[in-house]
Amino acid sequence: RLGRMAESLSMRAYAVGGFVRDLLLGRTNLDLDIVIEGDGVAFMKAWEREGYRVSVHERFRTGMILFPGPRKVDVATARREFYEFPVAQPTVASDSLKHDLYRRDFTVNAMAIALGERDWGTLVDYFGGRRDLRRGFLKVLHNLSFVEDPTRVFRAVRLEQRLKLKMEENTVRLLTSCVRGGLLSLLSGLRVKSEVEILFHEALPLPAIRRLREFGAWEVLFPGLAVDSRTDRVVRRLTVFFRRLHRDLPPFEDSLWLVYLASLLFGSDEAVQRSVMDRLHLTPAERHVLSLSLFSLGAAENDLGGRGERRPSEICWALTGVPLAVCLFWAAATERQRIRRRLLLFLTRWHKVRPMLTGRDILDLGYRRGPLVGKILDALLTARLDGSVETREEEIQWVLD
Ligand code: ATP
Repeated sequence: RLGRMAESLSMRAYAVGGFVRDLLLGRTNLDLDIVIEGDGVAFMKAWEREGYRVSVHERFRTGMILFPGPRKVDVATARREFYEFPVAQPTVASDSLKHDLYRRDFTVNAMAIALGERDWGTLVDYFGGRRDLRRGFLKVLHNLSFVEDPTRVFRAVRLEQRLKLKMEENTVRLLTSCVRGGLLSLLSGLRVKSEVEILFHEALPLPAIRRLREFGAWEVLFPGLAVDSRTDRVVRRLTVFFRRLHRDLPPFEDSLWLVYLASLLFGSDEAVQRSVMDRLHLTPAERHVLSLSLFSLGAAENDLGGRGERRPSEICWALTGVPLAVCLFWAAATERQRIRRRLLLFLTRWHKVRPMLTGRDILDLGYRRGPLVGKILDALLTARLDGSVETREEEIQWVLD
């Protein structure tokens, strides 16, 4: 339908980028990016007239169409871009698909698939992307690629590790000189943050963390950072948690990357840890998660330790108000088995426990509105956590007693 709509407007539509790469690899990729040869804005407006939601960025002639599902399709207009100087935003001029593909990062990401009625499914591959994919090579399109956009260092490492590609020799050389030349330090804090965030959302971030260390990228990005075996150990434990406890762990979603960031910073001095937080312009909430993770591990170990049995409620009350992401980090970072086990029990079971009775039920049992109701609910939670009550009837009896 996308191709047909484009043709009805005398334009052409192509699927491009990661979607094509993943299709050739047989990997699922739900992010469809299309390039319109013609006028992407007019194309999106035509969908809008058909009743679809679109969001258009007139200046860059990009945007997206939201199809039911919901399924988002990102739209760009084939155009030529000139980089005026390294690390600059591209300035827009106009041209064709080949130029659009040439300004991309790697050959494997610079292929397109035609979506027109007659040429539907035809692969457009000007730069040997398919051959590189077959041979398992990740290769830049030209020698200035990393200079034009140093964030491609992250992209290269991320794709290489995720897709099990091998960075081609010249690409390794160019990436190395980009890192050694200090270009990464020219990136704004927000761009670094966004790349680090994406990297840490990978299913298995450890190989990419290590690879960036091999290239010396962490040290350039964050001077003084010590990414050593402590980081490896914590990240490896996180991986094990996710493999074994996946279904039982809460969804960490937006804060998971902070757990990996804490792991990255774990072995460094506090001054370095704080300067990384500044460099990344963390929000107050993100800073809170990171500071608590890094600076309160010792205190948490004291609170949660103890040789004998600790009641579940004691652990839960000690962790009241602590973000779950912080508990996850502590569970991976502590060297004390018993504490790790308690934190994991909290994360997989106890943190979800609530009394069956509500405040309303307590009032119905004859109590007056006021702080006592909260206290009763807290005590009931303690009783439930420690197994003294199980059913609703037992809870009622417990309150009446
Ligand atoms: P992922 O699966 O991680 O999303 P992707 O390759 O699909 O990988 P996107 O960030 O969605 O990544 O980008 C889509 C496409 O846009 C890429 O395949 C690539 O062709 C192009 N692209 C993205 N970022 C850059 C960049 N910094 N430089 C050049 N091309 C880029």
